[in-house]
Amino acid sequence: MARISQLLDAGQTLSFEFSAPRDEEGAERLRQTLARLAAHRPQFMSVTYGAGGATRGPTRDWVRAIREDFAVEAMPHLTCVAHTRDEVAAIVRDYQSDGIANILALRGDAPLPSSSLPPRGGELPKAEGGSPAFDAAAELARFIRERADWDIGVAAHPEGHPMAASVEADLAHQSTKLAQADFAITQFFYRTEYYEQFVSQLDARGVRTPVIAGIMPPTNVASVERMSALNGTEFPSGIHDRLERASSQAERREIGVETAVELGRELLELGAPGLHIYTMNFARAASEVASALGWPAD
Ligand code: FAD
Repeated sequence: MARISQLLDAGQTLSFEFSAPRDEEGAERLRQTLARLAAHRPQFMSVTYGAGGATRGPTRDWVRAIREDFAVEAMPHLTCVAHTRDEVAAIVRDYQSDGIANILALRGDAPLPSSSLPPRGGELPKAEGGSPAFDAAAELARFIRERADWDIGVAAHPEGHPMAASVEADLAHQSTKLAQADFAITQFFYRTEYYEQFVSQLDARGVRTPVIAGIMPPTNVASVERMSALNGTEFPSGIHDRLERASSQAERREIGVETAVELGRELLELGAPGLHIYTMNFARAASEVASALGWPAD
């Protein structure tokens, strides 16, 4: 059992993120992906949580599998949208009995039609029944802190959150949230300036919580376009156009890996405490990025 704060104290970290698959075929692919990426000896891996609780069991099962079958520290994500306080308390108890040491406390998003974007200052659905739901990740983090002696991470949005009422309100909220967390992991971004600016704005507010940089190798135009729009992330036209001009999937993967490696190198040089690779449950690009950044496979 390793706390992420201790791993960060020991040096710059590498971590990988996965999602619980929906079917047996996806599960088999994820097992192969985990085996391949565990060989890079990442400091930890994390497993996402379906907002609304659909992956409650599977997230827990995959966190256990990563720790027990692949001997890598694993961190569950937990979203509070649509959960009651009693439900969250029960989830915390389950993880306490599993002996986990770290958790990523998130708000989560309401399910959206793929064509629509979150409105600025938009409303989220509330949990049904039980005691009132949480409105924001900071509340969830506080609730967990009162119950469990874990390292608690939160999400960071270097380009601002798309539902924020204003840039200032967002920064104020993020500073307060990060100040009470043990570490943060950013949304993916493609310009290091956003990361540098975000960290220096936090620093100016006296917040020194380690901010691990999230990296998503851009290998698929449609999916990066969709996620960038949802997250309010800039998808630079230079990367977009190179991918559009590529004539094969292999070439697109190469561009994605090259972009992620360049970004990762710059971030490590800037002193980012760690890099967190969004794998989309695929091994190859993440493995190539890890090797190029100094985490070769055994
Ligand atoms: P919050 O911090 O609660 O709020 C987001 C924004 O709302 C704030 O930045 C701020 O602008 C505004 N806000 C909230 N409260 C206040 C306040 N009191 N005052 C002023 N403004 C406020 N989603 C999933 O469903 N499952 C996952 O597993 C998952 N994993 C993620 C992992 C990472 C590393 C990241 C970066 C995101 C992840 N997400 C996941 C997406 C995340 O749920 C969304 O980005 C969501 O819209 C915001 O979550 P949050 O925890 O940052 O929310």
